[in-house]
Amino acid sequence: MDLLDTLTAKGLRGETPTREEALAVLATTDDELLDVVAAAGRVRRRWFGRRVKLNYLVNLKSGLCPEDCSYCSQRLGSKAEILKYTWLKPGQAAEAAKAGVSGGAKRVCLVASGRGPTDRDIDRVTDTVAAIKEADPAVEICACLGLLSDNQAERLKAAGVDAYNHNLNTSEGTYGDITTTHTYADRVDTVQKAHGAGLSACSGLIAGMGESDEDLVDVVFALRELGSDSVPVNFLIPFEGTPLAKEWNLSPQRCLRILAMVRFVNPDTEVRIAGGREVHLRSMQPLGLHLANSIFLGDYLTSEGQAGQTDLDMIADAGFEVEGVGESTLPRHRADIAAAAGGGCGTGTAGGAGGGCGSAAGSGEDADADAAVGGGCGTGGGCGPCGGHAHAAPAASVGAAEGTDAEKDTEKAADEVRTDLVRVRRRGAGTELAPNA
Ligand code: SF4
Repeated sequence: MDLLDTLTAKGLRGETPTREEALAVLATTDDELLDVVAAAGRVRRRWFGRRVKLNYLVNLKSGLCPEDCSYCSQRLGSKAEILKYTWLKPGQAAEAAKAGVSGGAKRVCLVASGRGPTDRDIDRVTDTVAAIKEADPAVEICACLGLLSDNQAERLKAAGVDAYNHNLNTSEGTYGDITTTHTYADRVDTVQKAHGAGLSACSGLIAGMGESDEDLVDVVFALRELGSDSVPVNFLIPFEGTPLAKEWNLSPQRCLRILAMVRFVNPDTEVRIAGGREVHLRSMQPLGLHLANSIFLGDYLTSEGQAGQTDLDMIADAGFEVEGVGESTLPRHRADIAAAAGGGCGTGTAGGAGGGCGSAAGSGEDADADAAVGGGCGTGGGCGPCGGHAHAAPAASVGAAEGTDAEKDTEKAADEVRTDLVRVRRRGAGTELAPNA
């Protein structure tokens, strides 16, 4: 298939495809799907080997948000019966983080609901980071606190935060359909503030909100241009009690095509399967590992994931390896750029000052040569990951307007609330129950 040969060649060189090529990936048929996965998988192995980076979410403050992001279970007016609590104390957050790290997570994502942090909130996060790093100086920390004001990114950097997550979520053209209390430009501004302060930028998207293929391609190219070091790909978790509870627009095949497109556009960037992995990829999750090099371990912000041990077993069974603390996430050339910018998730030297999360040691470039190894925040209902907009047109693949059989089945399921697939988180941070990691 000429398209896949072209995309593979470009990806192996670290080049970005054209918009038309990215759209064509989304328009491939089910008959072509394994060829698409194999082609994007070669690009993934070129830059990341068979490594899988594990990330662990700690929801520092859950629910009660004044913003109206329609995909989010923590939004203003949400009737989702999620856990609601205010800021965890530093010791509580450190205890939660410990569970994820002991389960194999390399990065801990500290997420708080809300429009953005106050300066007092930055103090709280500073104390929390100190508590986590006191227990384990090597752990990477990503903060996800909403829109940043001037100088807050610098304060987080000084506190030892390595990365900042703030997802663009969808295209600029449709952003107003999913949120009215802030703008796409506000989100871009915060990603740029984080980057400017030397934090590694983590910014991704949510698929399944009724967006078009063009919208998906727009946001993925925008993320590439923003220089995001990691791109979380969320699949909408339609939470009962949110405006998007009945938006079931995704099939496992569609999710794989989206991940492949994101990989081709971001060949040398960390691509993370974020919220909605279990809900939408289901038994196809292992194929997703051939495209993404990063996942969350255990539960999400407000919804349950599969058991942490099941994640680890899946990685091993599929022939992948959990990325270790001493290994770089990003390939050498990307890690060098991040380091030059003042840190960022590219250096990987455990606990090193100004280091971040992705040193070049052990990068996929080397690993692949010897055929070796290999949003909250974006997930399950936080600052970035889980909803869809109620007024958009149904998703449809370009060139495949009829839809595949699986997509037709998915459409049949639309307009239903699926409590069998979406389970509210009751474990871990903010509860008396043990975390799922
Ligand atoms: S995504 Fe973040 S800002 Fe938007 S409603 Fe949810 S918690 Fe609030």
